[in-house]
Amino acid sequence: MSQFTRCSTSKYKFGAHISTAGGISKSVTNAFNIGCNAFAMFLKSPRKWVSPSYSQEEIDLFKKNCKELGYNPLTDILPHGQYFINLANPEPEKAEKSYDSFLDDLRRCEQLGIGLYNFHPGSSLKADHDTQLKQLASYINKAHTETGFVKIVLENMAGTGTLVGSDLSDLGKVIEMVEDKSRVGVCIDTCHTFAAGYDIGTREAFDEFWKNFDDIIGFKYLSAVHLNDSKAPLAANRDLHEKLGEGFLGLEVFKLVANAEFLRGIPIILETPQPEDEGYGNEIKLLEWLENYSEEKDMQEFDTKSESLHTNGTKSRNEQLAKFDKKTATKTAKKGTKRSSTSKTDIANQLRPKKARTKKE
Ligand SMILES: [Zn+2]
Ligand SMILES: [Zn+2]
Repeated sequence: MSQFTRCSTSKYKFGAHISTAGGISKSVTNAFNIGCNAFAMFLKSPRKWVSPSYSQEEIDLFKKNCKELGYNPLTDILPHGQYFINLANPEPEKAEKSYDSFLDDLRRCEQLGIGLYNFHPGSSLKADHDTQLKQLASYINKAHTETGFVKIVLENMAGTGTLVGSDLSDLGKVIEMVEDKSRVGVCIDTCHTFAAGYDIGTREAFDEFWKNFDDIIGFKYLSAVHLNDSKAPLAANRDLHEKLGEGFLGLEVFKLVANAEFLRGIPIILETPQPEDEGYGNEIKLLEWLENYSEEKDMQEFDTKSESLHTNGTKSRNEQLAKFDKKTATKTAKKGTKRSSTSKTDIANQLRPKKARTKKE
């Protein structure tokens, strides 16, 4: 019983991170029921190192569901690795343990016929950052030799310092060291990007970011997007997802996403804090509406939607802003060299809703 009809005319693969309760094959029907054109899920428990393997029956059912519901597992499904996997960990035993779980995930993908696998590139902790990037790349190379076809997708991060991938150049360096470049890619999370200090909140900043992305990493590696608003302000280094339009990014950014031609054909996955899957269904419909946005017809409706979502998030944004102000006041602000630093005026601007009429299309 699908409440949200899957859109066959959208040029984008909008979807969401889906629950696998009841078995991995259930993720396919769950995704279909909320109108996903692509989806993500965990391949096993995100909290345990080891999980039982799939039964042949479950594998067959997963493939059957994909076929019947029209998902190509090679291009439309982007599983997410466990958060505790750290292939950049300088402690050999811990890195090995991570690799075992990582390889197990990749093999699960291949059992299910899935062509993409997204994971967090980890942290160099107290060790030399570049040395640990090298280690991460060599694990990716090793995984390529131990598997057949799945593409390994590195996600950008919200944090700072030792966290691999909060600086785009980390991802560029890792890819540089990967031998089989046809089997490596990048997933850009809009919340992480903004929290890491890359402004994407206006058309100009959005275009500038993607230009940087192309220079530092290269568009051919762009394999997926995680689509989230941000509860925390620009450069707060906090990984706090917000519902579309309610955070510091605002609805305008998602209109840009839903009209960016270079994002067509890759999974664009919602990971917003929705209590029910139905929330994702509504956000997918919102994105499909934004895709067909017309300045003449829809500007008023856009402003109304944008305003109302912005208002829903006001309390949370103010709370996060107070925390951020406190943090920056107590810490002597380190002057960022490569990324934009946030001034009081920037923050004040961030608190204002972004209206369609103020932007040139
Ligand atoms: Zn992630
Ligand atoms: Zn996140």
